[in-house]
Amino acid sequence: MTDFKEFADVCKQIEHISSSLEMTDVVSDMLKSISTEELPVVTHFVMGDVFPAWSVEQLGVGTSLLYGALSRSSGLSLKDIEDLVRSTGDIGETAVAALGKQKKNQSTFSAFMGEEPSISIMDVFDRFLDISRSSGAGSQSNKMRNLQFLFNSSSPEEARYLARLAIEDLRIGVGEGIVRDAISKAFDVPAGEIERGFMVTNDLGLVAVAAKEGGIEEISKLRMELDRPIKMMLAQVTPSIEAAIKDLGMLAVEWKFDGARVQIHKNGDSVNIFSRRLENVTLSLPDIVEAVKLHVKADSAILEGEAVAVDETGAPRAFQDILKRFRRKYDVEAMVREIPLTLNLFDILYLDGEVLMDQSLLRRREQLVSCVENCDSIKVDEQVLTDDENVVNEIYTAALNGGHEGVMLKNPEASYSPGKRGKNWLKKKPIMETLDLVVIGAEWGYGKRANLIGSYALACHNPEDGTFLPIGKVATGFSDEQLVELTEVFSELIVGESAREIELKPDVVFEIAFEEIQKSTNYDSGYALRFPRLVNVREDKSPEEAETIDRIESIYLSQRG
Ligand code: AMP
Repeated sequence: MTDFKEFADVCKQIEHISSSLEMTDVVSDMLKSISTEELPVVTHFVMGDVFPAWSVEQLGVGTSLLYGALSRSSGLSLKDIEDLVRSTGDIGETAVAALGKQKKNQSTFSAFMGEEPSISIMDVFDRFLDISRSSGAGSQSNKMRNLQFLFNSSSPEEARYLARLAIEDLRIGVGEGIVRDAISKAFDVPAGEIERGFMVTNDLGLVAVAAKEGGIEEISKLRMELDRPIKMMLAQVTPSIEAAIKDLGMLAVEWKFDGARVQIHKNGDSVNIFSRRLENVTLSLPDIVEAVKLHVKADSAILEGEAVAVDETGAPRAFQDILKRFRRKYDVEAMVREIPLTLNLFDILYLDGEVLMDQSLLRRREQLVSCVENCDSIKVDEQVLTDDENVVNEIYTAALNGGHEGVMLKNPEASYSPGKRGKNWLKKKPIMETLDLVVIGAEWGYGKRANLIGSYALACHNPEDGTFLPIGKVATGFSDEQLVELTEVFSELIVGESAREIELKPDVVFEIAFEEIQKSTNYDSGYALRFPRLVNVREDKSPEEAETIDRIESIYLSQRG
């Protein structure tokens, strides 16, 4: 059993390293030194995750619960804890400061016996698991008890990383790329193989265990599995239909529906539906479950499509309506009647025991068509193969007239690449585009609005190192109702505060309209937005799906012709 202290020591060491190669070495040494049981846990912990992305387990600890636990464990008041968050600007440092004060005055039994309290990595994981599994009446106090137990059993140095893990924001700069390379180094398996294993399982913990136990041979046996969603293939923007034809030649052209992506796993009579963020949304979508059971003629299948909220005429409704459906946890049936959905299927990754991911889009589509009975609630979307610009333009116009976003232009020969935003899927939307940006900070309002968040700091994504680069602030486009609702949501994501400024865990994506992108030295991205305005809160998107810095640069360049 490895002590959690050892993990905390490694985190501290990594915090002082800036080179990714060095970080990789340190993570690799740690992965080598722990037991097989601890391996998946540490693989996720070091990236600031407690459970793999696909897991049904959800920690669900917000900052208010965490502050409460720190207050009880340290004997400081809640107000003291909030002041510490403000002065240290970090929840981890807050835990160190709060518990440090308390431990100095403490004369607990263990101190009396001359022992330091100690807790193992697996103890921590088990407590988190218990937190995730507590539901219904009494669940808040159970979560609180577990957090208090963790803080009471740890030194202030360990508490720094416990507190950050509890809200799944470890802040030591280790992302998937570093962990992939560390597993490769620790168990001597080429990084490409580790990557393939990750693509099909979506779980670096599983991959690490396979690498440790059987090296390359065991990794090559990893397969996609029912009920374990994989990251979805994404699309790049193409500047024009002409450019897409130049890039790909023959195109498979489909409407780009205005809805939300779903990945559906049918396993006999059981149907599970996952959102784009890989959350299990099955309970909110009983109508889709029913439609799949009735109209998908396969014993087992993994399908992908776009769920669209429609009105009586079948035309798409506002994007917010589809999100309402996904979010709804109670009184779901009323919501099903209020906002009906149709499902447009466009891909299949698995059918009756056979993995189809490596087959061409055309082959996959044949099998999709063969197992779906089209009807009003569920259908395979239409696809046209062409390299004629006029034909694509006609489909594009028809999609826009139908109230949808534009067209998807796909490489008919390409296999399915999980999580990749490559050139094999291109999207064409009207010129006036919006940006998906991550909210990383905020500012309280003034006067009567001092208890509401008034403006939000936005960032784009740097996929190279997984960081978020500030690009501006948005304070317009919010309804009064939204200001209140968002203040509530973001209150649970506060990781640091100073005066009126708040630092937030990067978790929520805003869709932002803007006039122009300008060069700027005010923000780390090197760019700023002119007249940014909120269009939508993109609950379906994860922070990693936000606009990349490269994309910002290319929009900036295209603006200048
Ligand atoms: P974007 O959200 O702009 O990154 O565009 C990609 C998204 O378009 C996918 O994740 C799907 O949710 C959606 N989409 C709509 N229609 C299609 C389609 N026919 N094929 C693939 N994706 C589609």
